[in-house]
Amino acid sequence: MSRMTLNFEDYLLVMWEYQESFGKVSETDISKRLKIRPPTVNEYVHKLQQMGLVQIKTREVSFTNSGKRFTIPIVRAHRIAEVFAQKVLEVPWEEVHKAVMDLEHLFSGNYGENLYKHLGYPSTCPHGNPISVAEKDSSASVMISPEGTYKIKRIIFEDYSLLTKLANVSILPDTTVKIYKDGRTELEGPGGSIYLDDSETQMVHLKKTS
Ligand SMILES: [Zn+2]
Repeated sequence: MSRMTLNFEDYLLVMWEYQESFGKVSETDISKRLKIRPPTVNEYVHKLQQMGLVQIKTREVSFTNSGKRFTIPIVRAHRIAEVFAQKVLEVPWEEVHKAVMDLEHLFSGNYGENLYKHLGYPSTCPHGNPISVAEKDSSASVMISPEGTYKIKRIIFEDYSLLTKLANVSILPDTTVKIYKDGRTELEGPGGSIYLDDSETQMVHLKKTS
């Protein structure tokens, strides 16, 4: 990470991502994802607790209701900034998440809503995650879906190595994929096949087939 300091918004964004993908988040997860030493994460998380935004049980962190209310606009700003980065700055799909980590702080509040208007009110970020951030999502992860043909809905956990892996075989939101489960989980897309590990199968969600 090139920046010297991390905004606490980054913590909340990462927590949201873990919560949505795995239903839980620990200080270790945050530490790994943000590449910050555990004691620093611990200190930050306690600050967030003092602010009433999170609660901590053993090492697991979760949002309070006011924490959720506070974080939803941050997630929204992130997703709008990603659309901007992809459409206007022409940042490649797998890099937009990383690219906007600084920008999005500029885009919260009214400026972000102006940008949203100029972008033509997109409904999702480039990874398929809704700009109108909802707490619950009914889409099914690859993990819980049986073998079959699906369309990709969203990559909830915007992990650079996963995004790169998917982009290499042209698997993006709306792409049709075949899922094979034979001990391992295989995703066949327009540009070839990849295997997902267990945690990655929770990060990729599929559209409901009707
Ligand atoms: Zn995204």
